Amino acid sequence: MPRISAETIEQVAAALNIVDVVSSYFPLKRAGTEFRALCPFHQEKTPSFYVNPAKQSFYCFGCGRGGSMFQFVQEYEHVDFPEAVRRLAGRAAIPIIEDQLSAEEEVKQTLRKRLLRLHFEAADWFHRNLVRTKAGEIARNYMRDRQLNIEIARQWRIGYAPSSWNAFREWAIEAGFTKEELLASGLVKLRDEGNPRSEVYDRFRDRLMFPITNELGEVLAFSGRVLQPNAPGGKYINSPESMLFSKGNVLFGLEKSKRAIAQTRQAVVLEGQVDLIITFAAGIENAVAPLGTALTERHAGLLKRFCAEVVLFFDADSAGERAAERAIEVLYTAGLQVRMGKLPPGEDPDSLIRKKGAEQFRTQINGAKDFIEYQLERRPSSDQSVAQRVQSAHRIAQFVALISEPVLRDTTVSRLASCLAISRESVEQAVASHKKGTAKSLKEETQAPVVTPPRHEIAALCYILMTDSSTLDWSRSQPWQPVLSSVPGTEILAKILESDLQPDNPASVAAFLARLDQPDAAILSNALSNPLYRKPIDQAIRRSYWHGFVMRELRARRTGIESALRLSADHPEARAQAEAELKDLVNLELAFEKMGFYPGGTCRS
Ligand SMILES: [Zn+2]
Repeated sequence: MPRISAETIEQVAAALNIVDVVSSYFPLKRAGTEFRALCPFHQEKTPSFYVNPAKQSFYCFGCGRGGSMFQFVQEYEHVDFPEAVRRLAGRAAIPIIEDQLSAEEEVKQTLRKRLLRLHFEAADWFHRNLVRTKAGEIARNYMRDRQLNIEIARQWRIGYAPSSWNAFREWAIEAGFTKEELLASGLVKLRDEGNPRSEVYDRFRDRLMFPITNELGEVLAFSGRVLQPNAPGGKYINSPESMLFSKGNVLFGLEKSKRAIAQTRQAVVLEGQVDLIITFAAGIENAVAPLGTALTERHAGLLKRFCAEVVLFFDADSAGERAAERAIEVLYTAGLQVRMGKLPPGEDPDSLIRKKGAEQFRTQINGAKDFIEYQLERRPSSDQSVAQRVQSAHRIAQFVALISEPVLRDTTVSRLASCLAISRESVEQAVASHKKGTAKSLKEETQAPVVTPPRHEIAALCYILMTDSSTLDWSRSQPWQPVLSSVPGTEILAKILESDLQPDNPASVAAFLARLDQPDAAILSNALSNPLYRKPIDQAIRRSYWHGFVMRELRARRTGIESALRLSADHPEARAQAEAELKDLVNLELAFEKMGFYPGGTCRS
């Protein structure tokens, strides 16, 4: 997508007031210098959602969401950032200026648009085959047997791919799409895979077709279900990974279920597309289904945007068990609570709803056991030996170690200890032994690390730098990069320091927040709304806060280098290294002294 220019974002931020933007969705009440309301993103009885007009930001103390007006619209309307800017720009009657793309990007963007167009029209074509043609009868019969009526077919744009090697290709070429576009979509295949000039044929033949959409409703791919019991290929086949589609990024149904998921703060995860559609039609609308793949980090991140709890309904066989255990890792790491749904033997959600009604399935959802509870129940029955109980503790501890929320982890440890009648210490040890392993493996695999709130010290510095332009300019003029680069958790400070943020200009603050990822924006909005930091304080104290932070880091570094020097007496290489580091450090200390905060310098311990 072409990038919306920073200029446009700033103009929009300057033209609109976040108080007006939010009040156009629901009423706000004045509370001192701020405005307050019941949070729209989580359920609560007393308002903890604040809008700060001076900083043009919002923050919820209940669920931690926060950011600029752009992030508000993104979260509230469930749209992406460019779309939020477009909607707000429309309201402010500001024309959107898009940054110039490179020629290569231009080609990619054009192809992306063409592929979206192709999928959109293909979904219509498949749908027409289902409802209007004689050939579609077999698919209509199947749908009738599964109690999928015409209304459901229309709502989900279900279609039929005819039993033909080239019906789709011929339609698409006729409709103006090129062979290259068809190949890039994955909807056709080369007859000779090694030869791009060979003939192409339809990938989906004689299948019931389900369009796969992203959460904005754009069709990215298709999933085709077999209709003949002995047909070749899997029960479901999906489009291959393409420029539009990656199955690890998409949850089937999310486009339709996101509202209900956000309202109930709960997502029910099912295994099959038909199960999902039947469940949705039966009025249980907070459900999604991965597309024949394990839940990925990206899936967990998507769900985390809308809810706090996930209920898994996987097959009760050992493959289902393993899928659930793999899912736990990403779900716990994302900070979601997980419960395990259980169905009567031999039933899936579809058959259960047909036989016993939606209420029965709802009862199963409500009765789903917490994942750890479920694991406790699965352990070998009655009078176990101590050794067996310790073994169970170890098996379950691997999951407890993944819980990212400290309070939840702690209570789970206590519960585990009392259930297994072993000491809390042994459980803690078991958890700790797993933690080391997982921390490493997660670090290696993680693409989008889970953000934990910064420690108090850094949050306070964020507040100071974002509200006091003189201290910000002063800090910017210092050699802060080599200091912050080795302190974990200070990335957010670096983002402020290297930005062009002007704290006195609300539009600039809003534009700065708007350019951040949602977790960073929430951290900063949280810091901005923290009553602890609001007290009017002297500028000298603000500066000393920053200065003290830097000095403590430099002092810690010096202690480390000095002990390295002591230990490296017999290792010339290590010694040379430590000496070089000491030299750099001394230069850094001198540079800070020259800034003249403490004349004469007091940073040497
Ligand atoms: Zn909230």
